[in-house]
Amino acid sequence: MTTDWHTLATDLSPDGRAVIGGARVDAADGATSGDVDPATGATLAQVAALGPADVDRAVAGARAAFAGGEWSRAGAEDRKAVLLRLADLIDEHGDELALLDTLDMGKPIRESRGVDVPGSAATFRWYAEAIDKISDEIPATPPGSTALVTREALGVVAAITPWNYPLEIAAWKLAPALALGNSVVHKPASVSPLSALRLADLALEAGLPAGVLNVLPGSGPRVGGALAHHRDVDAITFTGSTAVARTLLAASGASTMKRLSLEAGGKSSNLVFADVDDLDAAASAAADGAFYNQGEVCSANSRLLVHASIREEFLAAVARHAEAYRPGDPLDAAARSGSLVSAAHADAVWEAIGTARRDGHIVAGGQRLTRGDSEAFIVPTIATDLPADHSLHAEEVFGPLLTVETFEDEDEAIARANATEYGLAASVWTGSLARAHRVAGRLVAGTVSVNTMDALGLTTPFGGFKQSGFGRDLSLHAFDAYSALKTTWIQFG
Ligand code: NAP
Repeated sequence: MTTDWHTLATDLSPDGRAVIGGARVDAADGATSGDVDPATGATLAQVAALGPADVDRAVAGARAAFAGGEWSRAGAEDRKAVLLRLADLIDEHGDELALLDTLDMGKPIRESRGVDVPGSAATFRWYAEAIDKISDEIPATPPGSTALVTREALGVVAAITPWNYPLEIAAWKLAPALALGNSVVHKPASVSPLSALRLADLALEAGLPAGVLNVLPGSGPRVGGALAHHRDVDAITFTGSTAVARTLLAASGASTMKRLSLEAGGKSSNLVFADVDDLDAAASAAADGAFYNQGEVCSANSRLLVHASIREEFLAAVARHAEAYRPGDPLDAAARSGSLVSAAHADAVWEAIGTARRDGHIVAGGQRLTRGDSEAFIVPTIATDLPADHSLHAEEVFGPLLTVETFEDEDEAIARANATEYGLAASVWTGSLARAHRVAGRLVAGTVSVNTMDALGLTTPFGGFKQSGFGRDLSLHAFDAYSALKTTWIQFG
C-alpha cells in the first residue's frame, strides 16, 4: 500500500508549545515564532519562542526531578523498560514523526521515514538494552580494602541539536543521557523543533516521569546561550557548527566549567586511488557521500580527491550518479532529494556555487530550481579546477556542492585531505589492503571509511578530531558524555 503523504501532511496539526515539567506550555511571555516549510513557504505552526525565564523554570524542574530520584535512582531494568516502550512508540508514530522532519527541513520523506525514524527507535532500543548490561569495576587495592569504581549520572544535561537530522541526532543524545538516569533539557534547532516536541510527548506516554525530559524551542543565543551559561546545568551535549561550539566552550569556562561534548562542523575528503576495484561503485558512493540529505550532512564527503589517471572516467560516472539526487517534492516517496532547510541557507549555498563558477568550472548541476513559492531547491553541483588553496576545498558549505581535486601520489592525497581545520570523516577507495591501512592511519579524522561511504553504526563511536569537536556520539563511548566515574574506597582491615 502506498502512503498518501500529502493527505497525511494536510491532516497534521503540530503542537508548537514547549514541554516543561511534563506538560505542554507557552513561553512565559507568550512569544511565538512561525515555523515554515522550506519546500512550500507555508507556515506549519506557531512555535513557542522561549526565553531565559523559561530556561530557569525548566532547569529547576529537571534538577528537582533528578533529586527526587524517581528516574535517576530507578533500577536499570525499569529505565530500560520505559525506553523500550518509547522506541516502540516511535515506530508506531513513524509516519507522523517522519512527516514532521520532512515538513520542517525539506528532507525527502523516503529518508525520514525509511532511515531517520527507524534509526531513532533503534537508538533508544540500543541504549535501553545496554544500560542493564554494563558493569562497574572493582580494581586491585591493598589488602584490607576494596574500591568500587561506579559510573554516575551527572544530573541535568542540556542537549542542543541542529536541523539536519532533527529526530535522529536528538535520539543519539537523549537515549544514552536518559538511560543513565540524567534529566535532560533539550533545545532543538529553531527551524526544526516539531519532532523533538512530539518525541517528548511520546516519552511521557512511555512512562518517563514529568520533568525528566524538557524541550525548549527558541532562538540559539536566547535559549541555548542561557543553558550554556546556566549555573545548574551539569553538561552540554551539542551538535552544530564550529562557530557555536566555540561560544559553548567560552560559556562553560565563564560559568561552571560544565562538561562539553561537541560534535561540530566538517569538510570530509573522499580519496579515490587508481587501483580501486570497482570504479562505478566508488562513483556511486561518491555521489551518495556528497549529495545525500541535500549535502546537509556534517560528515558529507564534499571534497573529492581522485588520482589524476582516472579523473575523466571517474568524474563522468559521479556526474551520472548525481542525477539520482535531482531535487523533487520532499513528499514524493520516490524523491531522493528535497529542498534545502531554508531560503536563507539556499542563498548561501547558491553563493558558494557562484564562487565555484567564478574561480573554477562547473561540470554538473549548477542550477537552482523553483517549485511553487520556494526557491530552496539546488541541483547537485560538481566543481573542478579550483586553485589548490581555494577556500571551497577547506570550508564547510553544507549543501549539494562537491569540489574535485586530483593527486599524483599517496603523500599528496593525504596532505591535501588533512589541510583543513576539520577532522570528522574521510573515505578511501583502493584495491590494496596495505594502502588502505597506510592511508587510513594517516588521515586525521574521527571515522575513516574504506571502500564504503560514511560508515556509521550504533556500535561505533562518531565524532571529530581538530575543530570538528570532541566527545563521541553512538556506541558505549557515548555514556562518557553523560556520566562521571566515582571511586568509593572502603577500608575494612
Ligand atoms: P548551528 O547554527 O551551530 O546550530 C546548532 C544548534 O545550536 C541549534 O539548536 C542552534 O539554535 C543552537 N545555537 C545557535 N546559536 C547558539 C548560541 N549562541 N548558544 C547556544 N546555542 C546556539 O548549526 P546548524 O546550522 O543548526 O547545523 C549545521 C551545522 O551542524 C554544520 O556546521 C554541521 O557540520 C554541524 N553538524 C555536525 C554534526 C556532527 O556530528 N559533527 C552533525 C550534524 C551537523 P538555532 O537553531 O535557534 O539557531
